[in-house]
Amino acid sequence: MRPGGRLCAGLGGVVLVAVAAVSGCQETGGPRPDVEDSGITIRYETPAGSDRDDAAFLRRRKVVEEAASAVAALVEVDQRISVGVVSCDGEGSSYDPELTHVEICYDEVSETRELFRRAEPERAEPQRADDNVVAVMRETLFHETAHALVDTLELRVHGREEDFADQFAALMLLRRSVTGEQQLLAAAEAWYLSDVTNEDVDDEPDEHSSDGRRAVNHRCYVYGAAPGRHRDLVSPDALPAERAKGCGTEWNAVRASWMTALAPHLRKG
Ligand SMILES: [Zn+2]
Repeated sequence: MRPGGRLCAGLGGVVLVAVAAVSGCQETGGPRPDVEDSGITIRYETPAGSDRDDAAFLRRRKVVEEAASAVAALVEVDQRISVGVVSCDGEGSSYDPELTHVEICYDEVSETRELFRRAEPERAEPQRADDNVVAVMRETLFHETAHALVDTLELRVHGREEDFADQFAALMLLRRSVTGEQQLLAAAEAWYLSDVTNEDVDDEPDEHSSDGRRAVNHRCYVYGAAPGRHRDLVSPDALPAERAKGCGTEWNAVRASWMTALAPHLRKG
């Protein structure tokens, strides 16, 4: 999931959506026009036929717009950041450092829905399934946007950038209190399910932590932020007790490293 650095294809049939303060856009990644405001540009590519329902879902739930607005509410966003919502044909959402461009894939909606459906067929309530998809897509958006923030704001990265990006997703979700906690836990569950259902043992190792480790990391952050509310997370399969002991300290360090990095760029007021 989420291969990094893939160049995006030319974007045809796009629709520009205003988010917070809006920057300009271009169709194929050439020089950007001068713009008055800073913000994140979102463009929806016309979906391939098989992606239409997923595209409609993302638009209806305003998943991309709300994630971008949440980032822009916290940080003075660099106007060079753009998000394309596109048909990827299974390639996975990604970030292109050359263009400071995030690509979010329509088909990850279906893939995520299927991941949970296979794991919990008896619990496939439509509302719950939708909420899980929104949670995972938000986590993906925050992760990819973190890479763009690191590049455009020249942030000091603490540890490996892929882990740092996961930690930004945790930071953004946990800022939303209980709803965000549930979304981060759903994202953790998706990483866990991806880990246990991945039959492709020949997957090339990449710069990300393993899916299983990403699941445990997210649970550690949720637990560390509010141990009293999440004692049930501590178990050998979900969050081993040995790890849980340090999660309060770990979460404080994660939050401090991101907030320190962002300090000169935080939105005032
Ligand atoms: Zn990444």
